[in-house]
Amino acid sequence: MTAGSDQTLERATEVPAYRPFSVEVLRTRRLSPSFVRVTFGGEELSDFADEGFDQRIKVVFPLPGGGFTPIGDDDWYRRWRALPAELQNPIRTYTVRAVRPERCELDVDFVLHGETGPASRWATRAAPGHRVVVIGPNAAYPGPTGGQEWAPPAGAAHLLLAGDETAVPAITAIAEALSGEVRATVLLEVPGPGDVLPLDVRPGVEVLWLSRDGARHGDLLIPAVRGVLAGLTGPATAARTGAATLEDVDIEVETLWDVPEVTGGDGLYAWLAGEAGTVKLLRRHLVQEAGIDRSSVAFMGYWRLGRSEIG
Ligand SMILES: Cc1cc2nc3c(=O)[nH]c(=O)nc-3n(C[C@H](O)[C@H](O)[C@H](O)COP(=O)(O)OP(=O)(O)OC[C@H]3O[C@@H](n4cnc5c(N)ncnc54)[C@H](O)[C@@H]3O)c2cc1C
Repeated sequence: MTAGSDQTLERATEVPAYRPFSVEVLRTRRLSPSFVRVTFGGEELSDFADEGFDQRIKVVFPLPGGGFTPIGDDDWYRRWRALPAELQNPIRTYTVRAVRPERCELDVDFVLHGETGPASRWATRAAPGHRVVVIGPNAAYPGPTGGQEWAPPAGAAHLLLAGDETAVPAITAIAEALSGEVRATVLLEVPGPGDVLPLDVRPGVEVLWLSRDGARHGDLLIPAVRGVLAGLTGPATAARTGAATLEDVDIEVETLWDVPEVTGGDGLYAWLAGEAGTVKLLRRHLVQEAGIDRSSVAFMGYWRLGRSEIG
């Protein structure tokens, strides 16, 4: 090992891949009845890594009485867990919609689902000057920071991106960044027709917005995904390796997160996220019934109906 790689290793252990960024709201823009874009600013964002795609972050919201309990720069989760409940700031998971480190700006698109959760409640009232802490990828980290699941194999013949409104920020960021010529289908289930957002995608990317309009979560997305699978032809069908058994995930107590470590194949590659009950049904359909190889699909429960995100 060279002295150079020794130093890199040393830095890698000292510098966290994710770190807290103290930011304030610069502006908000109501994109549609269900989405508000909050643009955060703060000098620290010059060190925010721009990794693109479905980059996830944690947003730490003020305590009910205001303020933030310090959780340090590294090992923040352990410190936060160790705090008494009344000092634990609410923390929720979100997606980077866009980041402009050179201007110290970060956009996050929040779904407004009412007053039941601290994040939605905060986003409904967000205004310039309001502060949060964002735990995000650190540009000083000498390697990939992680926190993304989009990983299609180079030879994929067809890409499928499907999700509900909580996955719209991730899916739209991925869809807009798609290069090459591979065919892609994007399915987005949103609360109403007014939630269809402008999307700038290259030719060959087919986008279908599905307006729930009072229907249950998944009622439109599940048949739409089935329809895409049924219509696959030619090389795209290569992901079918035969029905596999599936270990059950109890979505009332654990997070449904079934993402292949290494993706492979030259057929379909699918990325599916949203309400955990819907994603569970899609997982059963794709893996058990349609026989799609698990190394070709990422399944992610972004939230669970009737259950708060913890931590
Ligand atoms: C990797 C990842 C990325 C995500 N990115 C985004 C993003 O960019 N934008 C975004 O808006 N969300 C995103 N989410 C989802 C978000 O974290 C959850 O919706 C979260 O539960 C919201 O927190 P809350 O405090 O508003 O509600 P909670 O306190 O967590 O829940 C309170 C109640 O509201 C319900 N609830 C939660 N979310 C919704 C919803 N969307 N619609 C209806 N009911 C809901 C819960 O079932 C519960 O009953 C992401 C989640 C993950 C895991």
